[in-house]
Formats: sequence, C-alpha cells, structure tokens
Amino acid sequence: MSRLILKVAIDAPLRHLFDYLPHFNQPPPAPGCRVRVPFGRRGQVGLVVAHADHADVPDAQLRHIHEAIDDAPLFGAPLLELLRRAADYYHAPPGEVLVGTLPGLLRAGRPAREQVDWQWRLSDTAPAPDTLGRAPRQAELLRALAVGPQAQSALPVGSAAVLRTLLDKGWVVREPRDASTRQDPAPPAAPALTSAQRAAVEAVLAASGFGAFLLDGVTGSGKTEVYLSAIEAVLATGRQALVLVPEISLTPQTEARFRARFGQAVAVLHSGLPDGERLAAWLAARSGRARVLIGTRSAVFTPLPALGLIVVDEEHDASYKQQDGFRYHARDMAVLRARIEDVPVLLGSATPSLESLAHGRVGQYRTVHLRERAGSARLPRLELLDVRHQRMSGLVSPALAAAVREELVAGRQAMLFLNRRGYAPVLLCHACGWVPKCQRCDAHYTLHRTRQVLLCHHCGGERPLPPSCAECASGDLLPLGAGTERIEADITALFPEHTVLRVDRDSTRRRGALDAHLSAVRDGRADILVGTQMLAKGHHFPAVTLVGILDADQGLFAADFRASERLAQTIYQVAGRCGRGTQPGRVLIQTHQPQHPVLHALLQGGYGVFAQQLLKEREAAGWPPFTHLALLRAEAPGAQEALWFLGETLSLAAELGHAGVTLLGPVPAPMPKRAGRFRAQLLLQADRRAPLHALLRSWLPAVAQLPAARKVRWSLDVDPIDTY
Ligand code: ADP
Ligand code: ZN
Ligand code: ZN
Repeated sequence: MSRLILKVAIDAPLRHLFDYLPHFNQPPPAPGCRVRVPFGRRGQVGLVVAHADHADVPDAQLRHIHEAIDDAPLFGAPLLELLRRAADYYHAPPGEVLVGTLPGLLRAGRPAREQVDWQWRLSDTAPAPDTLGRAPRQAELLRALAVGPQAQSALPVGSAAVLRTLLDKGWVVREPRDASTRQDPAPPAAPALTSAQRAAVEAVLAASGFGAFLLDGVTGSGKTEVYLSAIEAVLATGRQALVLVPEISLTPQTEARFRARFGQAVAVLHSGLPDGERLAAWLAARSGRARVLIGTRSAVFTPLPALGLIVVDEEHDASYKQQDGFRYHARDMAVLRARIEDVPVLLGSATPSLESLAHGRVGQYRTVHLRERAGSARLPRLELLDVRHQRMSGLVSPALAAAVREELVAGRQAMLFLNRRGYAPVLLCHACGWVPKCQRCDAHYTLHRTRQVLLCHHCGGERPLPPSCAECASGDLLPLGAGTERIEADITALFPEHTVLRVDRDSTRRRGALDAHLSAVRDGRADILVGTQMLAKGHHFPAVTLVGILDADQGLFAADFRASERLAQTIYQVAGRCGRGTQPGRVLIQTHQPQHPVLHALLQGGYGVFAQQLLKEREAAGWPPFTHLALLRAEAPGAQEALWFLGETLSLAAELGHAGVTLLGPVPAPMPKRAGRFRAQLLLQADRRAPLHALLRSWLPAVAQLPAARKVRWSLDVDPIDTY
C-alpha cells in the first residue's frame, strides 16, 4: 500500500530527518511548511523537507503530526535548495540549518503572516454621502472617509460589514497603512560616478544570471556608491537586493545611507533586533514588500522571491563566520545562493580575503578595481615609528605625541588604535609576584579600573578588584601592560585641555552609546579617539587626519596562520579612517620590529602586493586557500576525555581509510582550559575538497555513535577561520 511519509527537519543536534505521517484530516503539508510534531515530552516545531513513500523507521514508531502550521511553504525551492546544500557542505544536522536559521518567533510556531496595518480611503467612484439617504450607515462611513484615509480602528465600532459592502461596490479601497501616509523624503542627489565606479556598476549589471564580482577598492573609493547604484538599477527592473554587512550596529552610517536612498523599500535584519521586528523584516522580505534587505550574516537565509542582486560589504570580515552551532560562512553562502538563484553577487573590500583574491586569480571571481579615493580625498601615508629606546608615556612614544599635538593645534582630530580593552591585561603583586588568574581558564584576569573589577576575557567571569595580594597581603598591586582604558587615562594626562573619547565594547555597552560617540566624533566634540577594532569598521570621520597604531607587534607573533593577513587588514582598515576629508592623512605605526619583513612588505607594496606575497607563502606551506581544512573540536570537564575521544575518532578514520586527507593531532587547544572545560582538536587537511567531504560523510555518523561522544561536547568546523 502506498502512503505518504513526511520527512521533517527538527532543530536538534541529530544528523537525520524524522519521519511522520500527515494529520488524519488535513491535506499533507508541502515541503517548506512548518508542522507541529510529537517529539520528546513537549513536541516540537519542525519543517517538512520532502515527501516520501516509505519510512526509515518501523511502523510501530511512526506517528502523526499534531498539525500543519503553514498552508503555504515558508520559502521557495531555491532557498530550500540553498539550506539543503549548506547542511550538506558543513555536515551540520539538517534541523539546525533548516529550522535553526528561521527567526525565533517562527521557530516557536508563530504564524508567518505579515501584520499589515490596513487603512480605508474613498475611491474615485464613491458617491456623495448625502445621496445615500436610504443607507445611513454607509453614508456615515463615506463621510468619515471624506476627510482622508482612516485606519479601521479609527472608524465606528461594527463597521466591518458595511465596509465590505462598500468595497464590493467599489466605493472604498483598502490598502496598507504606510503606503500613502508616510512619504519618503526626496533622496539626496547621488554623486556622478567616477569612470572606475561606472565600470564596476556596468560589469555587474551586464551579468546575465550568475556572476561573482570582487570589488577591490581602497578605503573611501566609493564602494558604497557602487552598491547603491547597482541596486537602484536592479530595483528598477522590479527585483530585490540583499546586502550583507558585518556588524550593522557598528556602522549605523551605512544603514542610514541605504535608507536615505531607498526609503521605506529598505528592511533591516540583525540579531540585535527585538523578536517581533526581526519577524516583521523577514516577512516583509518574503512578501516582496521590502525591496532591499540589509542584514548581518544570517540574513543570507531570508526568502526574497524576486532576488536580483547580492552585495557582501567588507567581505574579508571575520564576523561573517558563525562560530558556534551551525558554523557557516555567510560570504560563501552568498556566493552559493547567487549561483542557485542565478543572479550576480558583488563582494566588496579594501582588503579582500586571500580566499577571494585566489578566486580572482583563477578567474572564478571577476575583479574590478577602484584604485583611488572618490572626490578630493587622498589615501593616507603609512610610516613606521621605531619605538626602541624611546621614553614612552605608557604606549605612546614622544614622536607620536608630537604628531598628535600638531593635528590638535591645527584643529583636527587624531585616532589611536589598540586592540585590547580594559586597563591592563595583568595585575601583579610587586611584593611577591602573585598574579590573579581565572580559575576556569588558562588565562590572567584583565584589570578594568573604571568598573573596579577583574574580568576574564575568555569566559566572561569577573570578581571585585582585590584591595591587596591574596598571597602576602601587600597592597602594592601593579597593573602591567595597557589596554584602551589605560591609554585613555595616559592621553588625558598628556593633553588635559582636549577631549578624549574611548570607543570599545565597554564604553558602548549601553543602547545608543555607540551612536552618541560616533556623532560626537563627527560633530567635532571629541579631539582624540582611543579605541579597538570597533574604530576600524567602515566609519567616515572627515576631520580625522592622524591615526596612531600603538602596538603593531601584537599581530606579528600570533600562532595562527592567518595572523599576517589579519594584521594587514587591520592596519589598512584603521588607516582607512583617516584623510577622508579635504586634509591628507597620516598613519604612524609604532613597532619594536622596524625591520620585520611583514611590516616592510606591507608598507612598501600596499595591501595588494602584500596579499599576493602571502598567497605564495600559503601555497608553499600548504595552507588554505590552497588546501582545505576541517577541524574537529572537543571539550570535557576532565583533562583527558577530549583527547581520548579524538583519539578514538582518529582510529575510526584509519579503519574507514582516508586517502587524500591528512589528520593532524589530536592535540590540546592552544588555550587548553577555557570556561572550566578542557579542549582539544583534530585537524583534517586535504588538497582537494572531494576526498575530505567523502571522508566526513562516512566518518561523522560513526563518530556520533561512539560511546565517548556522549561524554564530551564536540563539533565540526568546515573551513575554520580560527584553528584553535
Ligand atoms: P567606501 O565604501 O569605498 O569606503 P564610500 O562609498 O563611503 O567609500 O565613499 C567615500 C566618500 O566619497 C563618501 O563621502 C561618498 O559620498 C564620497 N563619494 C563616493 N563616490 C563619489 C563620487 N563619484 N564623487 C564624489 N564623491 C563620492
Ligand atoms: Zn603578594
Ligand atoms: Zn575565564
């Protein structure tokens, strides 16, 4: 007997779909619809992925779904295909991908209906109310609407039936409330594109169907104008655009520019939004009411029925990589989606990732360059400042202090960058050498003086600042080294007559604080900015003419093979914040290693030349993008379990055979103990993707079956960007 089985994805860490029978007296829900199913004690919301004619479980275990939630699929076939391929590529549990990427309220079973605020207005054929003496209620409503459109709630109670009558007669019109009441202000005049910008826009628009473009344009070269222009053309053909940005809250200016240009056609989606707003943006994209969707990484999985273009801004940014749960890379998903939907994708950066540069080299991506800044702005000059033997004020050399003073005297702004927050990374007892350490991590506490706490930057643990040494009771506790809080204090002491503003995660914790800080900089209410990575993100501060990079050496000694790439990107992104106005900019990089080949190469050739050199090194050393990695991580409360477990997975791989894949490890993670758990890892490396994925396909299900797998927390990371 043939019957219908529903293959359902459920957000659980299990690597398969679940079989259910349809409801007794409901039509079977189509693939893409949510269903409520019996699962565990409380039931679950799942997503139908496919229909089948046989079940993988015995009949006795087959159960009926409780109910279908949606009467139409949440998204069309291309997005379902993207999610399926993503689960396959990352070897992720299907439910984590198909259900886990939905907005929280949809995961909870909320109806996928747009809450449209309706209003009523008179049509052109509406008669004068006085001619309707025989229908006083109709006349009353026509009179109420004669003054202008009204929300249904503003009309007399009980008018719904009468309104329907009027609608049938064609005398009134029902429309979404925001359509006519809120008029967009006229968009600001767009600048005439430079010829390089025009060439970039034309290249993208000329693509028929899929095409991947790398927009390699120096900071301030007008990449955003290229996006805006290309999107405008796409919207004019009735299609939608998806714009991915790294961290929307850090660059409110970008969002503002899109809103200024496209008004209410823009919807924004990121994890900082309240659940209701997230759902509303998702639904507006799905219904097509939103024409431009701007969002952070998970927005790549939003349904857009008329998708015509995908833009990935700052494509090199590490925040595109999801680092827990379903570990995907949103840039790579954007390219895959563009391929599936057969539309162009535009990846922009001043410091492209080596992956994208490598794709450009072999012609998989077409590279378009913007080599000069737009308008009258010039690129800043980069100089190394040898700080050996210098009498430093904290981390600031006399030469840097003098340069800052020069800018301030001229009424301009300076920016000092240090990628370490807090006051000092170590607190030390001057009497006996005691150093307070986090009990849960292999790490020292960072001193946060404003809050008077010791904070572990790895597990978030904190404790009050001790008044004296825990070992010898001496009160002589010395902060060692410096973070942004200390730089702020040092700079305030050096320039007491000037306003110093610190921008880091601590100083911007309150809602709205970052916006307030950024506008203080733009309005000239701050003279010197001190900050972390947050300052490196796409901001436009026209009066900043000097950037000081306080400690470039930090990046020279990191263990990760991506360290040089990251250092170069950070230096060029921070440098890119200066000289964006009419005055030229200057970048001073403090170092104790003025002869270091990395710094030299970087300053001599610029990012592009340096990156090509890094690619050669990666190729020689057999690192990505020339080889492919997957990292199996494990952690457990005891010191050895994670290593034992990984040892067993290694034996499994040996049994299965792993031709073409090298397994390295298991080894303890570079920081073995973190948040009270001991961590270890096993690295898989392959010249070609096919054998790696073939191994993962047969190996992971067996790994999941190991008895030891239940005693550790483990996860697989395909294309990891951090190998620790
Ligand atoms: P990017 O995104 O590459 O950093 P933006 O698009 O933010 O660059 O442009 C930097 C500045 O130059 C902005 O103030 C922008 O308005 C201006 N700009 C961009 N394109 C042009 C142009 N063609 N003519 C004049 N000004 C431009
Ligand atoms: Zn002591
Ligand atoms: Zn800790």
